[in-house]
Amino acid sequence: MTPYAVSEPDRETGLARLANFVPAAGPQYAKTRNFDFGPGRRGNTSALSPYIRHRLVSETEVLAAVFGMHSPREAGKFVDEVFWRTYFKGWLEHHPGAWADYQDSVRRLVSELESDPSLLDRYNSATAGNTGIDCFDAWAKELVATGYLHNHARMWFASIWVFTLQLPWQLGADFFLRHLLDGDPASNTCSWRWVSGLHTPGKTYLARVSNIVNYTDGRFNPQGQLATDAIPRTESTPPSLAALPAADLLDFDDRFALLITEEDCSPELGLIDRAPEAVLGLVTTRRRSIVPVGVPAYTFAMGAVKDAVSRSARSFKATSALVEADYRCDDLVDWALSSNVKTVVTSYAPVGPVADFLATAAEQLAERGVRLLRVRRAFDSTCWPHATHGYFRLKKAIPGILRDLGLLSADDQPDVSMNRIEKQATAVAMKRMPR
Ligand SMILES: Cc1cc2nc3c(=O)[nH]c(=O)nc-3n(C[C@H](O)[C@H](O)[C@H](O)COP(=O)(O)OP(=O)(O)OC[C@H]3O[C@@H](n4cnc5c(N)ncnc54)[C@H](O)[C@@H]3O)c2cc1C
Repeated sequence: MTPYAVSEPDRETGLARLANFVPAAGPQYAKTRNFDFGPGRRGNTSALSPYIRHRLVSETEVLAAVFGMHSPREAGKFVDEVFWRTYFKGWLEHHPGAWADYQDSVRRLVSELESDPSLLDRYNSATAGNTGIDCFDAWAKELVATGYLHNHARMWFASIWVFTLQLPWQLGADFFLRHLLDGDPASNTCSWRWVSGLHTPGKTYLARVSNIVNYTDGRFNPQGQLATDAIPRTESTPPSLAALPAADLLDFDDRFALLITEEDCSPELGLIDRAPEAVLGLVTTRRRSIVPVGVPAYTFAMGAVKDAVSRSARSFKATSALVEADYRCDDLVDWALSSNVKTVVTSYAPVGPVADFLATAAEQLAERGVRLLRVRRAFDSTCWPHATHGYFRLKKAIPGILRDLGLLSADDQPDVSMNRIEKQATAVAMKRMPR
């Protein structure tokens, strides 16, 4: 299987892909986006997620390009999807306990696999694509080979994993996170929680045969093979709402070094406005899980950071280096000291393995008199405060956000009106949501 036409993991390819897709981001996207026509027939969605996830191309650039060709109303659906990523990132920032619980569960379940042969057998069949459910098996193999699945296939896969195969959702989320090129702690954890009935408590997603037949254009028909009900999973203590962590400001004149992680691979574009002495790229993809990550996912992240380091070093005329996952905080301290700086600047990493690494690194750097500044982009700081509860709170704020960020003029009105089904779903969800 060809790796998902994942051309090169660099900014130039991401921008070319964006330019190529923008004409289709209007009504055509809204009409066809739900179809999974299969690998090799992916033109109905942008396939930009690996680029946006690593910020080789930013959300702001994507939105600006789309508004350059479509009215906000025409592009409403696409804009909405771009903001789902923002919503999930903001939600996890406000509920870091959901990520910590997920990680604890994966650790516990991976050790249970060693002592429970029946669970191990079902898990191995699912991840190897040997369940006998054709569509599920094809998606498992596609994911491992290419690092990509269409959004609808991700929903069906997760639903079958949880409700038909009765496997723990956390092991499915881990399987996705290890293999997706766009593997993202927030979008992934929250989506699996949503399918399982945890994100909107009590509301699950059930994969239906007719829906699969229709939206795979007849490629699959798992008649009689799927669960017909989806009992919500529950958790003893739902993650509580926390205040948004503060980010640092670039409020100094000192010499500094720039640390690039896979969370933001375009720091030379608006993250910092001065030249660093040295640039270091750090690839932490292997920290996504205690189980090995897939080669396509690793290769993409490595390529993205490498591209970012060489662009930044070129544009700032700074020395540069690239290091990998087993890099230790001690090494980071040595690099900062040998670069002769007292400040290291990096992009703010949202909840996930990079943020965990940076938290430890900040302490160790501080012990040696070096401070780590984590700078947040205006896009995140503007959007995340709206991502405390359900998506529709953020959705309502989108017109104002777009105007604040200068992406829309005061006269433009994106189509954020809800249809009847959305209104009903929101009303139900709001009733169930903790306030
Ligand atoms: C169980 C499950 C797990 C998922 N795990 C991830 C993940 O680890 N990383 C990830 O980036 N996305 C994840 N998604 C969301 C979504 O499936 C992908 O972002 C989308 O399929 C990417 O394809 P695209 O770029 O062609 O999207 P398009 O349809 O072209 O959408 C444009 C952009 O909007 C964003 N977007 C679209 N749909 C979603 C969505 N449902 N949630 C969040 N952002 C969205 C992406 O940045 C995408 O590139 C998951 C969805 C499910 C159901």
